[in-house]
Amino acid sequence: MQSQSTPAVILRTRPLGEADLLAIVLTPEQGKLETAAARARNSKKRFAGGLSPGMRGVAAIARGRGALLRLESFDATAAHAPVGADLTRFAYVAYLCELTDELVLARHPDPELFAALCLALEQVIGGAPQALHLRQYELALLRCLGLSPALTSCCVCGSEVGGDGSAAFDGPRGGVLCLEHERGAPRLPTAALAAIQHLESGGEPADLASAPAALRRAVRDAIQSIVRSHLRRPLHAQAFFAALPRDAGAEGV
Ligand SMILES: [Zn+2]
Repeated sequence: MQSQSTPAVILRTRPLGEADLLAIVLTPEQGKLETAAARARNSKKRFAGGLSPGMRGVAAIARGRGALLRLESFDATAAHAPVGADLTRFAYVAYLCELTDELVLARHPDPELFAALCLALEQVIGGAPQALHLRQYELALLRCLGLSPALTSCCVCGSEVGGDGSAAFDGPRGGVLCLEHERGAPRLPTAALAAIQHLESGGEPADLASAPAALRRAVRDAIQSIVRSHLRRPLHAQAFFAALPRDAGAEGV
């Protein structure tokens, strides 16, 4: 049967029988797909660079027998070797892929999300990996899922939340809260809210690289409180990152 070529990112693989792999891939026009890669574990021709999470390339996908699609070939279009040479990069890439796989439903195409993942992977693999790249991707992913946090008006009543140094912020409830609705929610510094807005609107993560570590941690904790509330389980990538030596990354995943 004829196969279709599509840009794709490998999100996850697992063994399927003796020599095959199940490969979960994200594509711009068909969304997240489950594919079977026959003889992938020893085909140097069709899967020359292997099939590792975070690899970006062109996939040839065909209908298989039954529901499972067939991954006929995968040609990497971006260098992936740096991932194997650096534990921080490896952990960041694993996190980006696992987070996407966990939160994105199968066959819900979203070209904007695909582009955001490709950008984050390029930043983390092709450049110097920064935790702020992860934060920006988390915000893009939340936006694509319709889960963006409220940053300027109360997430319950919509009234404007004035900033006098800090604002009540409750990630699982949806963002900032007014005086009437804050009900003991933790405070988030206004500077952290501004940093989140900067990342949310596509601002350069590098602009925040010199911000105090406490501010970057506050940004991380605020965004992750939202992300966590939508996950069914803790991510393996986060446990892996927690086990890395402390100097491996500033704020972590
Ligand atoms: Zn309110």
